[in-house]
Amino acid sequence: MSVFDHPEFDEHEEIVYGFDAESGLRAIIAVHSTALGPSLGGCRVYDYANDADALTDVLRLSRGMTYKAALAGLQQGGGKSVVIADPRRNKTPQMMQAMGRLVHSLGGRYRVAEDSGTDEADMREMLRETSHIGGHGAAPDANDPGDRDTSAATALGVFVGIQAAVRFKLGRDELQGLRVAIQGVGKVGQVLARHLHEAGAKLWVCDSYAPAVETCVQQFAAQAVSMNDILHQDVDVLAPCALGAVLNDQSIPLLRAGIVAGAANNQLAEPRHGQALLDRGVLYAPDYAINAGGIINLYYEGDTRRWADVESHVRQIGPTLTQIFAKSEELKLPTSEIADQLAEEKFKR
Ligand code: NAD
Repeated sequence: MSVFDHPEFDEHEEIVYGFDAESGLRAIIAVHSTALGPSLGGCRVYDYANDADALTDVLRLSRGMTYKAALAGLQQGGGKSVVIADPRRNKTPQMMQAMGRLVHSLGGRYRVAEDSGTDEADMREMLRETSHIGGHGAAPDANDPGDRDTSAATALGVFVGIQAAVRFKLGRDELQGLRVAIQGVGKVGQVLARHLHEAGAKLWVCDSYAPAVETCVQQFAAQAVSMNDILHQDVDVLAPCALGAVLNDQSIPLLRAGIVAGAANNQLAEPRHGQALLDRGVLYAPDYAINAGGIINLYYEGDTRRWADVESHVRQIGPTLTQIFAKSEELKLPTSEIADQLAEEKFKR
């Protein structure tokens, strides 16, 4: 399988394959860039059909982490790891320990964190073998949700991002009466709904898990909407907080919101959809810029962590987005392209 000619290969610094016969571990770690600091990224355990799919995923995701960390102003690089296994059926503590040894073999150039298919228990297994783990051992103060609970910081970042987008597009500082549709009210969407409700916004929500919708209806006076209709509500802001690829050839022509600003990763089905949003006059807050609260939260760890530092850094997402919006307007380029340019200026300097 070719690596250097792979379409997702982008000058990655290091790609390490790991195999452990005893536990059955088959894993790949990709370090995209350590230009700004040691790389950090989650460990995804997924039942990939083959090694080629796992390689594609780890190359793409590790690159994304470099851009996200750089744009968020962190002294941190981008990496990611994948384990080829069904997390429910094949993952074992021994496998996670073997993964910990593989992470350790990189000498700190890659720091691992939770991702889909891994949880706190897996991090504890890895911690037996390596200290190169992001988000552990913090001493939170009273207001601090802790460095492992990234969703609170992510939701705060999305909230300030929506404020910035509303200020830019609608010229309003207040969110009173703002109409917002949230697709997915899980860990992030739920906290975002609370922030918006407290700021006086009116909410429309959907989720495939009915109790999550019910909580928003009860606590935040939200209106429940079907999953088919949420993307096309007559609202000011659409906040995708569930799945990737929701901005595509089918959904974009039907959007009625003037702003798209939400937590979901990889919202554009393809890069060209950034241009499609611009052509339609929709202000799009690039996903990795607005959802960086989680990675910022992980950055502040250990005994010196203070929630006030995390919060003020997360609030910088607002000015960063305003800069992206202004440059997009000036150069008539999609916000997604501007975000990439700004990130590259930081880590390629
Ligand atoms: P979550 O799993 O807690 O919430 C996702 C919610 O979406 C769930 O309640 C799920 O039932 C719902 N959902 C799934 N499919 C749906 C559909 N078709 N329509 C409507 N709802 C659907 O995850 P989360 O931690 O809240 O993250 C939300 C999104 O934000 C994800 O895309 C995640 O990758 C991204 N994100 C999260 C963080 C974080 O700190 N948690 C950080 C960055 C990005």
